[in-house]
Amino acid sequence: MPGQYVPDPGPPEQADAASVTLSYGPGGDGFTGKILSVRLLDGPPPLIDFDLPVEPAGAWLEVHAPQGREPAFLFPLPDPRLGHEVGAEDGTLTRSAEAGPRTASFEVPWYGPGTRITLRLGDGDRLDSRSRAGAFTLELIPNEGERGQHRAVPIARWGHDNPRALLLILIAEAFTSAEAAKFDAAADDCLRAFESLPSLQPLLRALAPVKLLLPSKASGISHKAGNTPLGARWRSAAADERVILVDERKVGRQVSNVAGRRRAQAIVIVNSPRYGGSGGASAVVSCDPQSMQGVLVHELGHSLFGLADEYSAASGYESDGEPVLPNVSGPFTPATLKWGDLVAPGTPVPTPADQPDHKVGAYEGAMYSDHLRYRPAFSCRMRDLNADFCPVCVRVIERKLTPHL
Ligand SMILES: [Zn+2]
Repeated sequence: MPGQYVPDPGPPEQADAASVTLSYGPGGDGFTGKILSVRLLDGPPPLIDFDLPVEPAGAWLEVHAPQGREPAFLFPLPDPRLGHEVGAEDGTLTRSAEAGPRTASFEVPWYGPGTRITLRLGDGDRLDSRSRAGAFTLELIPNEGERGQHRAVPIARWGHDNPRALLLILIAEAFTSAEAAKFDAAADDCLRAFESLPSLQPLLRALAPVKLLLPSKASGISHKAGNTPLGARWRSAAADERVILVDERKVGRQVSNVAGRRRAQAIVIVNSPRYGGSGGASAVVSCDPQSMQGVLVHELGHSLFGLADEYSAASGYESDGEPVLPNVSGPFTPATLKWGDLVAPGTPVPTPADQPDHKVGAYEGAMYSDHLRYRPAFSCRMRDLNADFCPVCVRVIERKLTPHL
């Protein structure tokens, strides 16, 4: 497509796959980051299904083969200039004001030693000057294999007997060994949060849930990392704090131990009755039933499926560029709308808010702005914690999970 940036696959090279966990954020004169873990995966490398817009806004990474000068693979990442996501009990979502380091896990092609990733931060700059917006490059060095001390227990649901299934690893944090039954109940609530969404029901066979009880010396968490296996803590001591942070390096070690070279996603269940959680490399959730029902699946929309937020609550972050994520658009023409093939003929775009629910169009108000950002449907789990995913997000989820069915 003219004006579109298509990666050069370079000379044909055999690629395997790797899962990378990265911490990145503002630092130095741009932004900076470090790799927390690299896990080699069995199976084919991920496919490129992401075209970089002409004026990209947000963060994305490029993968370079050892001899390759041009990137061979692109993938969108959450923008580190945004603060933490905060979900309210009524289903609305906002962003906290301050930006900070964030973590993400993603699959990339692995071309052997010397494979590098470059992380870039765009702000609508033209591609020929995109380095001004910030970039850094890291070499991928796989983890040494480790043997786990604690064994994960399969849960006999969904794709538990499907060898292609992606492992969904439910990890206990801040539960003592005497609290195993409490963890089991929370893990059950967690699975029911998925089962309650009609859009996910046909895909659950692509997921094999397992649970991992890491016995903790301390029960529960505070705003300081205590004597618990994964270092979970509330971000602040405020009574209404909702963000729970974990040590993603420790989570990554457990995922390596449980999954080996199998594809996997971690969900950390934190022993606290308070409403809270966070998204990043892993999805983190407390034992509060509303956190399970609302926040958890939304956060996996980010961490497992690479979806953008579709809510418009202001964050103080503005950009004119085109969001790199698949379910939000900047100003468009009918020919350039990312999900134009899903818009029924005769549907007006931009689409007025009074269309029947879930009719696909382009509704103004998305990704932290009320204006000039468009979302595919009036409601979606990426906008409202009480809604199911919209058809555009469902298509992204299906693409990711269908190879695992
Ligand atoms: Zn959506």
